[in-house]
Amino acid sequence: MKLHEIAVAAPVPGSLTYSYPVALPIGVRVQVPLGSRLITGYVLAQLPENDSVPAAIKAVADCLDAYPIFPAALVPFFRWMAEYYHHPLGEVIRTALPARLFGTSSRPTIKAKTETVVRLCAPRSDQAAAALKKSEQKTLELFYQHCGGRPVMPRRELTKLYSGAGTALKGLAAAGLITLEELHVYRDPFGELLPYSDRPAELTAEQTAAVNTVIAAIDAGAFQTFLLHGVTGSGKTEVYLRAAEHCLAQGKNVLVLVPELALASQMEGQFYPRFGERLAVLHSGLTPGERFDQWQRVLRGEAKIVVGARSAVFAPFSSLGLVIVDEEHEAAYKQDDSLRYNGRDMAVLRARFASCPALLGSATPSVSSLYHAEQGKYRLLTLPKRIGGQVLPQVELVDLSKEKRGRKDWFFSDRLLAALKENLANGLQSLLFVNRRGYAAFMLCRDCGAVVRCRNCRVSLTLHRGRNQLICHYCGYSLRPDIICPDCGSGDVAGLGLGSERVEAEVRRLFPQARAARLDSDATADRRAQISLLRQVREHEIDILIGTQMAAKGLHFPKLTLVGVVWADSGLSLPDCKAAERTFQLLAQVTGRAGRGEQAGKVIIQTHQPGHYVLTAARAHDCRAVYEQEIALRSMLGYPPFGRLINIRFSGENELQVEEAAKAAAALLRAAVTKDSLPADILGPAPAPLSLLKKRFRWQLLLKGAQPEVLHWLCDQLLLEKGKICGKKVRLTVDVDPENMM
Ligand code: ADP
Ligand code: ZN
Ligand code: ZN
Repeated sequence: MKLHEIAVAAPVPGSLTYSYPVALPIGVRVQVPLGSRLITGYVLAQLPENDSVPAAIKAVADCLDAYPIFPAALVPFFRWMAEYYHHPLGEVIRTALPARLFGTSSRPTIKAKTETVVRLCAPRSDQAAAALKKSEQKTLELFYQHCGGRPVMPRRELTKLYSGAGTALKGLAAAGLITLEELHVYRDPFGELLPYSDRPAELTAEQTAAVNTVIAAIDAGAFQTFLLHGVTGSGKTEVYLRAAEHCLAQGKNVLVLVPELALASQMEGQFYPRFGERLAVLHSGLTPGERFDQWQRVLRGEAKIVVGARSAVFAPFSSLGLVIVDEEHEAAYKQDDSLRYNGRDMAVLRARFASCPALLGSATPSVSSLYHAEQGKYRLLTLPKRIGGQVLPQVELVDLSKEKRGRKDWFFSDRLLAALKENLANGLQSLLFVNRRGYAAFMLCRDCGAVVRCRNCRVSLTLHRGRNQLICHYCGYSLRPDIICPDCGSGDVAGLGLGSERVEAEVRRLFPQARAARLDSDATADRRAQISLLRQVREHEIDILIGTQMAAKGLHFPKLTLVGVVWADSGLSLPDCKAAERTFQLLAQVTGRAGRGEQAGKVIIQTHQPGHYVLTAARAHDCRAVYEQEIALRSMLGYPPFGRLINIRFSGENELQVEEAAKAAAALLRAAVTKDSLPADILGPAPAPLSLLKKRFRWQLLLKGAQPEVLHWLCDQLLLEKGKICGKKVRLTVDVDPENMM
């Protein structure tokens, strides 16, 4: 009998030992008895031979896989995560694997494989043209007219314009004026062909320096973290692509992470034309069958590059040569339930385990990353200029407190109105950014001042006019809007504060001639609607786009020259130590949408706090200014990057039980800290800012300290007593490096 170390997919700590007649390879799934049940387990190691198997060791009931479904190289990574996030090892592995492990998908993920592209061998010359046939001259002429200045164009577009182009192109190729190439092209999930983007012949000096540095690190094969700080449109993606090309040429694999699904599609679109079938994608937009297929392609070594969102960090590569994390500052890298891991941090950890470089890119790096760069822990690479010498848009702050009071449409200052009018008259596009969806942010009783709240959560309900409902954005609870005040019975209840729906209504009223559209998760609930709206914007069928966060990121519209931020302050006052940093990042991102074409962009930010450092920094495109302020503040408070945080949350349906559990936990932790004078602060317990959510009361307790080992040790002590402290009714969750403290 051989002994194996096996992690079971159940909330039990560590791993267990089971026997099997033959040695099982690391990475296969098995069925093992646990208590009175059979449960899935994962083989992590073969244990040393034993003459007699102790009677207490049970036997594996069944082996489920014909070959390993994850490489042995991932085992130390899983172990590390389980320990760091205080999560059962088997459940870490279950989270890592695709949900369905058998069966194949019915449709391939990446459609439309290759396309014939015409490439010009030499610039236009009338002399050479004189010797050509009429049809060939005409074809060349069409090429010059429709190629948009680039030396490449799909053949399909020319034959569409002129039926004789097919034959003429053959003649031109024979004459050595053009070449015909088969290139990979990319269709998005709905079959739309993405605009063709060529591999630039030359890199800028800054790009070259960045690429060479990363390439040297790939060749050195040692762990090192690079922070690529490049303004929007500075060509960061090209740096990723070149570094990836080099890595593949060395026979090593590449992992590319983006913070969310929509950006995954875009990144796919950039990588597919270069790498074709060597690319795999892993994200939540895939069906379980598709995910399984992609996983298998990586496992079999067919795919050399993975592009994906957070969970792609588990891609089953056994040899990585480079890890890339785009938009490294994004909070969306943090998973907010179950295994609360940070995809960005784990990507860096994978690079460390694989002894390869990690490349973190952003236009607005996180305060922590800039600090690490300053301290020499990361190596800083910068791309300070936009490609093609475009200037960053000019940013203006409008002080809303100086606008006429009592005006009903206060949320459009005269300045913003005039700019919108002007842009419209010039046939240019504008984007209005609003931080919240819905019509009115909350409903207020004008007689007693009460706010209408959700029955299940202690939050105000948002008025949605289109759906004619008051909706809770946390649990979905809804009411009809024609309510009477729950406190005093008055019928005079009015919507206050603004959301995207209301801004859209105002735009339609003020500019009836403009073609307006709204991009938020209410207006474009499915991805198909979203993509078709974005196409309308691209083809200039929309003049004014009203959008929430969804419209802030990654969009590239050359005709969009004006961005208006309707109210910049909503995020600033959140009870969160990263509120200022996040607001700046968001403003910088929205700002980056303007002026990406030939014409310069303009941004108007409306605010009640024009003197706030976040706003003056946004006006000056000055990342440093926010960094300096935040670093001073955080160093004083011992917040990251100076200290670490672990948030411990208690929740349950009985408020008193939750409070008592939180207090008992705090007492236990404080006693442990005092006993050995440990360097850790225990903050709280206190009700969470969202103190009632989905009918569950919530309290929290924050561990803070400069030595992570101490915090983790305290956490372990608490978890040992979890049963006694929480009983059966209170749930305890541990959130290491929390991004969301609401
Ligand atoms: P970022 O990712 O930094 O926002 P992008 O990668 O989107 O910037 O680059 C902006 C544009 O510049 C893209 O259309 C890209 O194809 C183009 N580009 C990048 N590098 C070069 C280069 N060296 N020469 C010409 N165009 C380039
Ligand atoms: Zn009232
Ligand atoms: Zn609710």
